[in-house]
Amino acid sequence: MIQNEELFKAIISHSKEYGFIFPSSEIYDGLSAVYDYGQYGVELKNNIKNYWWKAMVQMHENIVGIDSAIFMHPTVWKASGHVDAFSDPLIDNKDSKKRYRADVLLEDHIAKIEEKVNKEVEKAAKRFGESFNEEMFCQTNERVVNYRKQIVDISEKMNNALNINDFEALRQLIVDLEIVCPVSGSRNWTDVRQFNLMFATQMGAAADGASTIYLRPETAQGIFVNYLNVQKTGRVKPPFGIAQIGKAFRNEIVARQFIFRMREFEQMEMQYFVRPGEELDWYEYWKEQRMKWHLAMGIPQEKFRFHVHEKLAHYANAACDIEFAFPFGFKELEGIHSRTDFDLSAHQQYSGKKLQYFDQERNESYVPYVVETSIGVDRMFLAVLSHAYCEEKLDDGTERVVLRIPPMLAPVKAAVLPLVKKDGLPEKAREIMDILKQDYLCQYDEKDAIGRRYRRQDAIGTPYCITIDHQSLTDNCVTIRERDSMQQERIAVENILKIIREKVSAANGANL
Ligand code: ATP
Repeated sequence: MIQNEELFKAIISHSKEYGFIFPSSEIYDGLSAVYDYGQYGVELKNNIKNYWWKAMVQMHENIVGIDSAIFMHPTVWKASGHVDAFSDPLIDNKDSKKRYRADVLLEDHIAKIEEKVNKEVEKAAKRFGESFNEEMFCQTNERVVNYRKQIVDISEKMNNALNINDFEALRQLIVDLEIVCPVSGSRNWTDVRQFNLMFATQMGAAADGASTIYLRPETAQGIFVNYLNVQKTGRVKPPFGIAQIGKAFRNEIVARQFIFRMREFEQMEMQYFVRPGEELDWYEYWKEQRMKWHLAMGIPQEKFRFHVHEKLAHYANAACDIEFAFPFGFKELEGIHSRTDFDLSAHQQYSGKKLQYFDQERNESYVPYVVETSIGVDRMFLAVLSHAYCEEKLDDGTERVVLRIPPMLAPVKAAVLPLVKKDGLPEKAREIMDILKQDYLCQYDEKDAIGRRYRRQDAIGTPYCITIDHQSLTDNCVTIRERDSMQQERIAVENILKIIREKVSAANGANL
C-alpha cells in the first residue's frame, strides 16, 4: 500500500516536473480537481484521442464522428434524467467538517473486507502449496464464507437504499457498520443529502429572462439529440454508431486522486444504434472490441479486468466497466452499457419529434436500442502513465526514470542528437531532423553530455534517440537507441524514416 502510494506521488510529481500536467491556475494556488496539460501532456492526450478515433471511426465503416456543443437546450437534461437524478448522496462528518459520498464510504468499507478475504487466500495458498484449490477454500473456510456474506449483505442493503433514494437507510448502514471518518476518526455524521453534480450557469442577460443552462456532464446527449440528423444525412442504418470526443463537467463531491476524478474532464463516447432485440449481442461485441483496443497498446492483460454490474440503472439491461490497476487499486476506466431505447424514447417524448428508424426489410418503424462505450481521456492518460512510469537501477550503478509509453502514444517520437556541437555534426543532425519532423514530433538536442540527453528523453518517454557521430559524415549511418532495452543499432540515414514509421505506427501491434 505504502509503496503504491509512493509510486502515485512520484507519478504526480514527475508529471509536473516534466511538463505533462500542471495544477490549474497554480500561481493562485490551484483550483481543486482541475488540471492543465503541459507541452508533453497535450501530445500524449492528443495521441490517445487519435488512437481512439482511428479505432472507432476510421476502422469501422458504419461509425461516424460528430462534435456537438457543450451548451444544450435545458430540456435535454430534463429528458435524460440528469436534472432529477444526476446526484450523489453526500454526508458530512461534523468533527472534521469533511464531506464524503455515502456510497463511497460504504464501498471503501467493502474493499477492506475484500482485502481480508485476499489475505486469507494468500495465507492458505502458502500453507497448502501446490495442492491449494482456491475455489474450494473460499467455499469452505468459515472465515472467508463469513466475510463474503458480509460483503453481499452490505452491497444489497446499499443498492436497495440507493435505488429508492432511501437516505435514512444509507446513513443507518454507515452507523451500523461503525464506519469512522478517515480524518477525525469520529462517527459524528450528519444526515445524507442529495447533491446534483451538474454545473449551472445563465444564458442571456437577466433582464431578457435569462435561462438556466448546464455545462454538459457527459457528451452522450449531444449524440442522442443528433441521432436523426446523422441518420438522415449520413446514409447510415442500424447497426451504426456515432462517436464523439469532448469536454464534460461534474461538480464532484470527493474530487481527489489527481486526474482520476476531475471537475472538468474529457470523454470519448460512442453510441451504437441497433435493432431492438439485438442489443445484447452487440453489447458482447463491444465488450470484446474495447478490451482488444486496450490490449493492443501492449499494456499487460493483468492490468485490466471486467467488472460486471449486478445492480443495473433503471434504463440498462446490461452494463460493465473495464477496470484498470491504478496505483490506488482497480478502478473504473471505461463503461460499456446497453441502454435500451431509454434516451431516444425520452427525447422523443420531451421534444415531440419522432426519433425512429423505418426498417424497409421488416416494413416497420422502431426506436433503436443503444449500446454505449464511454471512456475518460484523462483516466486513460493516467492509466498509460501509471503503467509507463518506472524507476530503474542500471548495470553501471546509476539510476534512471523512464516512461515506457507505448511508442505510438509517446509525445516525442525521436530525438536527434549530434554527439558534439562542432565538426559539422549539428548540420548533419539538422538534415535528419528536417526529414523526420515532417511526419513526427521530434526533438533536436545538442546540449550536455550524450548520457544526460538520453536521460532527458527517457524521462518523457521518447522511444528512439538518433545519435550522429563523426563516422556518420563518411558512412551516412547513425546510431539508433531504443528506450526500454537501451540497445543501440547502426542504421543508414535513408532508412531512418521507414524504421521509425514501423516502430511507432498505430497499426504496428495495434490489432484494431
Ligand atoms: P465514477 O463511478 O468513477 O464516478 P461514472 O460511473 O460516473 O464514474 P460514467 O458516467 O460512466 O462514469 O462516465 C464514463 C467515463 O467517464 C468513466 O468511465 C470515466 O473514465 C470518465 N469519468 C467520469 N467521471 C469522471 C471524472 N470526474 N473525472 C475524470 N473522468 C471521469
